[in-house]
Parts: sequence; C-alpha cells; structure tokens
Amino acid sequence: MEMYDVVFIGNSLQPSDLKSICVEPDMLLACKGELGNFTLRIQKEKETQEIKTRTVIINLLDIRESPLAEVPTWDELQEPEEPVIFLQDLKDLTPAQINGKGLELARDLAQKGKSVYYFYRSLRFNRRNDELYEKARRAGVVFYQYRNGDLEVKGSDGLICESPAMELELHGTIFLAPDLKPNMQLERLARIFNIRISPEGYLQVENVHLQPTYTGKRGVYALEGARNPAGRTDPDQEEAFTLAEIRSLLSNINPLTEEERVVDAEKCAFCYTCYRVCSHGALEPDWEEDAMKVLQIACQGCDTCLNVCPAGAISIEGREEKKKEANLKVFMCENSAATALQRLGKNGFSDLDIENVPCLGSLKKKDLLQHLQKSEDRVLVLGCFEEACKHLFGERWGDKSVKDIQKGLKALHFKEDRLTLLRLSPRMEKDLEKILSLWKEGNL
Ligand code: SF4
Ligand code: SF4
Repeated sequence: MEMYDVVFIGNSLQPSDLKSICVEPDMLLACKGELGNFTLRIQKEKETQEIKTRTVIINLLDIRESPLAEVPTWDELQEPEEPVIFLQDLKDLTPAQINGKGLELARDLAQKGKSVYYFYRSLRFNRRNDELYEKARRAGVVFYQYRNGDLEVKGSDGLICESPAMELELHGTIFLAPDLKPNMQLERLARIFNIRISPEGYLQVENVHLQPTYTGKRGVYALEGARNPAGRTDPDQEEAFTLAEIRSLLSNINPLTEEERVVDAEKCAFCYTCYRVCSHGALEPDWEEDAMKVLQIACQGCDTCLNVCPAGAISIEGREEKKKEANLKVFMCENSAATALQRLGKNGFSDLDIENVPCLGSLKKKDLLQHLQKSEDRVLVLGCFEEACKHLFGERWGDKSVKDIQKGLKALHFKEDRLTLLRLSPRMEKDLEKILSLWKEGNL
C-alpha cells in the first residue's frame, strides 16, 4: 500500500515536496498506528479503504457566527454605505487572525476612498497585523480603542461610543468580527485519533503557544478551526511551521524515551483505563492479543498508565532491578514516632530512608515532593495525634501539606497511597514496628 507523508483532513496546504492527499472529515472512520505509520480507514462511495500516512494535519474551517443576529459580519461584506464601521471584540477578545482579516478589509475600503472607522479592544499584534495596521492607518482608517461598556450598537445603523475620552455617535454600515466556534467534526475526530479535546472544544489542550499546532498525539497537527482561536497567530506562519516540523520529523523518527512501556497481555483486563488517561494517544487495542498495547513512538514516558492500570499490567521494560532502588522515605516527628523508634531499641529498617523532623508543621510540600520523583517512590509521614502536638497547629499544617499532595497525585492519576500520613504516640513502638514492616512491603 502506498505511503503518504501527510494526509490532510479538511483542507490541503498542497505542499509540493511532500506526498499528500486530502480527505473529507466525514469520510474518516478510524485511525490506528502512530507517527511514521498511521493507517486511516475511510469510506469512499459506499466502500471502505485504507490509507497509510506518516503524519496527519487536521485543517478545518471554524464555524463563524455574528455576535448580534441583526448585524452582518465582515465575512458578508459587500459594497457598503459610508461611513463603514468595523467592530471587533464585542464579546470576547477577537483572535489576531481575525484582526488581520478586518484590518485587510478596512485598508482596502479606505484605499478606495471610503471613510472607515475601526473599533477594537485589543489588536493582538503580530508581524502581519503590524504591517496591515500601518497600511490601514496610512490609507485613512480611523482607529478607536474602546472598553467594555463604552459601546452601544444601534442595530445595523450605527453606534454610540461613550468613554471618558470621547463621546461619539456614528451612523453608517457596521460589520462585526464573527464569533468563532469549533468545527462540528472535531469531537468525532478527537475520538478517532484518541486526542484530548479542550473545554472549548478544540483539538489542543496544552502548549498552544509554545508548540502552536501540536496536538497531544505525535504526528497529528491542528490548524485553523481545529485550533483554539485564542492561541492563533499568523495563519501563514503556522502553516509553514507545521510543514517544516513534518519535514524535519520525517527524516528522523525516534522514540522520545529510552525505556519502553509494555503491557503484559496475560494480565491485561482490556478495561481501557490506560487508553482513556493517556494524553498522548499512545495506547491502542491489540485485537490479536485481546489486550492493550503501547505505541512506542507516540509514548512520551509520563507513566500515568502504569499508575492507573488496575491489573498492574503495564511496566517499564527492564526496570525490575531499578524497582528495588525505589526511594522509601519516612519522616518521623521527634516527639512521637522518632521516640517510639528509639524505644524499640533495634533497627531492622536500614533499607528505609528515615529522617526526624521537629514537627510535621516544619515539613514543606517541596520536601515531600522531592522524594516522590520516581513512580516507585513512596513517602510515609508519622506524626503526633492532634491533641499531643507540642507546636501551635504544627500537626495541622503537616496534615494540610500531605492532603494537598495527595489531591495532586489523584488529579494526575497517580496512586494516592504513595504518600501516607499516620499518627502515633511515643509509646506505640510495637505499632510502629508493624507499620514500618507492612509499609515497606507495600501492604499497609
Ligand atoms: S507512559 Fe504516558 S505517554 Fe506513554 S503510554 Fe503511558 S500514559 Fe501514554
Ligand atoms: S489499564 Fe491495564 S488492564 Fe486496563 S486496558 Fe490498560 S493495560 Fe489493560
């Protein structure tokens, strides 16, 4: 089967040096594989067929709506009555890309000799907009910056602007910046590619500024209406960036981590928990084995799957030895557990990294977190009973630090029992011995 460098879902950028094909979003039925070797199943004229590709670009138009039903957007601009009033940011800050479109239209009309006003709250400058703004100004466009509450739009007739700096009533033809909404196909595409979707409905959850067109899954990129408008810059630059990324990736596709995460098919209960939590779309059903499998090129080594798998079926290849090197840290309050350990009079716990602290209140979150770096690391905090604490609210502060971190571990899908807090009195040496023995075996 022929292998493409890139499949465009939606609109093609037609790169002449990359072997590409364009597919309508509703033709796409399924995707499997990873960067360098995706297989897409598509429906074409009642038949299904497969396409192989190294990368995918999802490039769909936004849904564009007018923020005020009775006023047209500048997508609908025709020969207008003068003066022409461009208005953006009526609801939310309009993305820079739209500013570019409005500026371009305003400049063109002003260059034709029309009187043009441009109202905005933020122009979100980038190189392209800087140039357009300058040209529009030179062509005679009058710019007004307004604040929320300053403007009253009088239907399609004109507007009143009342601010401390000016009072202005303008009659003319208003054109609004359209509201952008995510393309309706995005939810379906997110499911097909197993990519996380943002609360706003776009195919990107993080790094929308630093890595502008990346999705969570390596080798799948989001452009235009697949990408949150708040993060968009210059469309030409974003397209060029994406194609340059693909060219450089295709010459050198490597895993991102040295160690492989693997699923033991015997243990896997095929429950899809790992599939759901992996934010990099790096797990995929293996129907021959009836188990999940890790896609090694897609995997980014975050180990979330290891921590959530209820069957303990995922491990790091060759990590058995290292497992024994897990850091088992115990913090003991000097006034309770540390005294109990002294009373015990023997130390069968030399494999534990025990540290005495004057009070749990002196434990900072960073002290705890630095001992939870590896996925096998565990921390046990042993403090006094609340009423026995010799320091003002010390025990409570310790308790809060532990609970905050446990909450964080839970949010990241890590096992909360990697950090445990228990209370003892100085006379509970037998309990201490039992607790330490059970805890170090992971059976507490
Ligand atoms: S280690 Fe992280 S990126 Fe890799 S498969 Fe597991 S959850 Fe996904
Ligand atoms: S979470 Fe574990 S048991 Fe469930 S599908 Fe993934 S590997 Fe299999």
